Amino acid sequence: MKKSIKIFLYSLSLVIIFIIAASYISYWSYSPELESTAVNDQNTSYFFENYEECRSEFINLSNQLKSQMEGVSIDSIRVESSIDTNLSIDFCFIPSVGDSSKLVVISSGVHGIEGYTGSAVQRMMMNEMIPEIQGNRPAILLIHGVNPYGFKYKRRVTENNVDLNRNSSLSNELYNIGNSGYADLYDFVNPANPASEDDFYNKFFYMVAIAKIAKSSMPVLRQAVLQGQYEFPEGLYFGGDRQEPQISALEDYLPMYFDKFKTILHIDLHTGYGEIGKLHLFANPVENDELKNYTTRVFEGLDIDWGDSDDFYTVSGDFCSFIGDLNPDATFISMPFEYGTLNSQKTFGSLHSIQKTILENQGIQHGYQNAKQEDKIKSSFIEMYYPSDPEWRSLVIEQSREVLNIAIQNYTEFK
Ligand SMILES: [Zn+2]
Repeated sequence: MKKSIKIFLYSLSLVIIFIIAASYISYWSYSPELESTAVNDQNTSYFFENYEECRSEFINLSNQLKSQMEGVSIDSIRVESSIDTNLSIDFCFIPSVGDSSKLVVISSGVHGIEGYTGSAVQRMMMNEMIPEIQGNRPAILLIHGVNPYGFKYKRRVTENNVDLNRNSSLSNELYNIGNSGYADLYDFVNPANPASEDDFYNKFFYMVAIAKIAKSSMPVLRQAVLQGQYEFPEGLYFGGDRQEPQISALEDYLPMYFDKFKTILHIDLHTGYGEIGKLHLFANPVENDELKNYTTRVFEGLDIDWGDSDDFYTVSGDFCSFIGDLNPDATFISMPFEYGTLNSQKTFGSLHSIQKTILENQGIQHGYQNAKQEDKIKSSFIEMYYPSDPEWRSLVIEQSREVLNIAIQNYTEFK
């Protein structure tokens, strides 16, 4: 071989080694940080570490509101389960003052583990905001812990591995929707060996992912994985083959609250997606200009993500649309709130997020390489959906207070 070719090949391999080493270090040292912010102890006091405490404090505050205000009603429905008899969805309904045509619905824990934050936000409202509203007030329905199994056992999904935000529909046609993009990526998102963060595949997971992104682009990949699938019960983002028990129960139960209202504003509380520490308003796509205008006015002055940016994806069977479909005659505005934890709008954040989600499901389906790995995988998953950082928690409550105050006031005043 000519000397010049040898030198060229030698330099090329050095460059490749350098690129691999640099990307490896930068992927594994990735750790998005919050801008330093003061912690307010009252804000952090709303966060608890187990489902029972969240639930019992929700019921205590419901009783407190009932003793302060006229017409408050409290209820609960048990969620069928083959492993736990103490799972329920709890409700607190606060009637309107003045205009009786409007209702606000705030739901938590559609993705079980995200319920810790959702519950904290609901209890902040019950403790501080609702008793303080002067003058007119729309009716308010708080729905606590839509997926109590996932809430209690710190998973996103139900005990049937179903993602409720892909399962909520009045029509069985949902469960026949195909997703060929997902089927193509099945092995990539559902590895079938015992889970370990430290095996060779996981150490270089980001490179496999980057190769897939290069082949199909990030938006296409994100859409295929996240939109939901109805074919693989053990796979990620499984939407089920029928309504989950609580969705059937809610279909029967909720109309008695809804029937008398002409306008419904639904806010569904989630965590995990988006910029760390930021409350994102991820609107569901709205075709109707009047409705879009109405939504913009309710959230006036706040950033709404309308789903036209690159990091957006659509889902089938989402809980907000289900609530809307229960009210075909009402003007229905919905706004999922997402409290970001990992900068998942950025490529590395997004890859870490999907990797942690894959490992969690892989562990449940196929076990773990050892107890240490089980511990690491579970705690890293919990940290992604329920960060322990007091600054993050404090910010969540602070932004919720501000945004919910604006939204409820605008909504009340809207004619
Ligand atoms: Zn969620």
